[in-house]
Amino acid sequence: MYVEITSKGINITTTDVIGFSKPIDMSPIKDGSGNVSYYQRLTNTDQRAEHWLQRLGAALANYLREYSNIVISKENEVLVDFPEGYVLYQHNKEYKGSAKTRHDRYLFGAYKFRSPKEFEPHLIWLVSGRVNSCECLYCGSGSKGYNKGKRGELTEEKIINTRSKKKLRDEVETNGMESENINKPKFAKTLYRRGEVVMVNLNATGNEQHIKLIRYAADDNDIPILYWPGVILETRKVPITDNISDDTTSINSDDYNVVYKAYYKIHLLELSDIVQVDRKSLLPWLVCRVEIPEGFNKNEELEPNVKTYVRAIDRVNKISHTYTPVCSYKHREAKDSSEKLRLQKYNAILLGTEMIYRNDYIRLTPVDVNEKYNNGQKVPEYLLISNIYQHSTKGIQFTGAGLLRGMLYKGHSKRRTLSDYEWITVNEPGSEYTIDLQDIAGRFYVLFPNLMEKIDWTSPKKLDERFIILGVKWK
Ligand SMILES: [Zn+2]
Repeated sequence: MYVEITSKGINITTTDVIGFSKPIDMSPIKDGSGNVSYYQRLTNTDQRAEHWLQRLGAALANYLREYSNIVISKENEVLVDFPEGYVLYQHNKEYKGSAKTRHDRYLFGAYKFRSPKEFEPHLIWLVSGRVNSCECLYCGSGSKGYNKGKRGELTEEKIINTRSKKKLRDEVETNGMESENINKPKFAKTLYRRGEVVMVNLNATGNEQHIKLIRYAADDNDIPILYWPGVILETRKVPITDNISDDTTSINSDDYNVVYKAYYKIHLLELSDIVQVDRKSLLPWLVCRVEIPEGFNKNEELEPNVKTYVRAIDRVNKISHTYTPVCSYKHREAKDSSEKLRLQKYNAILLGTEMIYRNDYIRLTPVDVNEKYNNGQKVPEYLLISNIYQHSTKGIQFTGAGLLRGMLYKGHSKRRTLSDYEWITVNEPGSEYTIDLQDIAGRFYVLFPNLMEKIDWTSPKKLDERFIILGVKWK
């Protein structure tokens, strides 16, 4: 292990960077819309850098305790410094004519790492002498072997012998969605995401007209209306003071001590009304999916409002069966010529009404009881996605850790999070599952842990086609 335990913490004694890394352009840049952005170097005594050093120190300490006999006390669970050549920068963006700003921190080194969590696997690979292949997002994770594509089979990770020092250029193709959410999945901490279809409580929009749309069903063949479908156009996190804090607020993982409340700007389908609501007024479509009774569409005597609602629901049902990969980047070609893999990788995919990112915990299609074991190994119920890609013959596939959800820990926080549950990894260390699109059921919501709904994703659509189906103007 390339570490040294000092009285001040953990010292990293190796590096994979020559010289030191910095952004290509440090001076302020003005974009076409007049927004100004610039990088700022953060020193290690800066509170924001300290946060990174603490997070990395804690993760590394856990690793060392498990895989070495190095003794580390609780107080020493911090990095003295980043590995040589690694420097933390803050990217600031000021929007023209608006008080809105963005501040994103990046660790520049062998790659541009976007969070302590993202750098963690690379750091561990570094200190452990670079023996196995690195599991970080940027190193060789694309060079997985292949399997027969059957759900639940393990993919052995191949060790790359000729590790190229060359950085993988992420040729980000934003598909016109320059959303912070899509470009930086890891920072998208709002519960619902831009581009998703959700159900909006008509009592909560603050619009009198919407309350008039609410109706109760006369009988089993009638349609009640309380929630109306809409597309999230924008998510916004607003820092708030403690005294208005409620359980819709959250603490941003990278900006500790600051409490945020998320607001969603939503276009209600068929109504062309845009509303702004918080999380409590929303439900995932799969939680309150509406079925329109057969023959209802043809009923000419329906009230106009109900007709509009039926049309809106119809749009959602159409979108439910589509999928749209977003934010692709080119990856090097696989060496294995017999397989002829040419991987098109994605950072995110819209699956029906939901947006799924890399590093998400997602639900897998439930299997029946006699399939619970495969070759004596438990079949995972969830996948922690590490990659989303287009396979040349097998279509969209996902790789990642296969998980089972264990018990709910007691004394959870006022807002439940993923870490309130015990997650049991099914696969062996160093291997991953490969899952086909058809075996993905949807997002896992901590608020709806027992959601089992699943839709078949059969129809690939481009992003603009998707918004045409929804009847929403996008940018
Ligand atoms: Zn790496």
